[in-house]
Amino acid sequence: MKYTLVVRNDDLSKKLAEDIHHGLKDELIYDNQKPDLVISVGGDGTILEAVHQYMDVDCYYVGIHTGTLGFFTDYQRDEVDELIHDIKKNEYHCMPRHLLEVKVHLKDETKTLYALNEMRLDHGFSTQVISVYINDVLLEVFRGNGLCVSTPSGSTAYNKSLGGALIYPGIPLMQLTEVAGIHHNAYRSLGSSLILDDRQTIKLKGDFKDLWLGIDHLQYSFQDVESIEVHLSKRAMKFIEYKEMSFIKRVRRAYIHS
Ligand code: NAD
Repeated sequence: MKYTLVVRNDDLSKKLAEDIHHGLKDELIYDNQKPDLVISVGGDGTILEAVHQYMDVDCYYVGIHTGTLGFFTDYQRDEVDELIHDIKKNEYHCMPRHLLEVKVHLKDETKTLYALNEMRLDHGFSTQVISVYINDVLLEVFRGNGLCVSTPSGSTAYNKSLGGALIYPGIPLMQLTEVAGIHHNAYRSLGSSLILDDRQTIKLKGDFKDLWLGIDHLQYSFQDVESIEVHLSKRAMKFIEYKEMSFIKRVRRAYIHS
């Protein structure tokens, strides 16, 4: 099996990455081009970077967290030996984490982007007016700071701060959430989040002359966008679970009692 490491740029993460490399190098092959296993050392943001870096490679992901809390990472900073042992033992469950496919329709071309957490049309400088269609049926004309569409993985991230629901990972759903929607007699939108399955496509139309689009930790700028289509991709990233780490325990540890 070939592995690589994606490491956050801090002393602890670099030290743990060295230890992991040292522990694996005699039995596994290091390959940062076409790895079978990508080991992230850092935080949730490091996993996001890893997924975007190796999105076109058919590989598995596992993470060790060097901060205090991780939604994508099963191992804590003092569990390096356990991680090395579990990788060598090679007995695992695979958790598929769905991606969003985001198609940005420009005048002459379409750009396709993928998100593990969410896509955000969000800026606080001026309000945006966005027509929202679900499978080509008009749902609403939204006015406010923006909209967020998240995956189940991303439901615990920005979506949660927006008041969206947490969704158990692995269920093929996406969630549309408002960012500071204006609700009065001139503009009225749903006001709550909307959860859709993998048969639905969200189409967004507006005055998108200069558009800022957030995809996970990345930011894109486009000019003269005609529309944006979002649906749940058939592609899923394969996250390895060597040990039992229940979603509910993770939610309790993160949000209720650490
Ligand atoms: P960052 O360093 O600003 O991270 C923001 C926080 O989001 C970190 O605490 C990180 O652990 C957490 N996070 C990321 N993915 C998560 C997930 N799936 N579940 C629970 N928490 C998660 O930025 P970054 O590390 O580059 O990560 C980008 C992500 O940050 C975006 O995808 C977005 O979801 C999130 N974000 C959240 C807010 C907010 O909640 N107000 C604002 C901006 C970005």
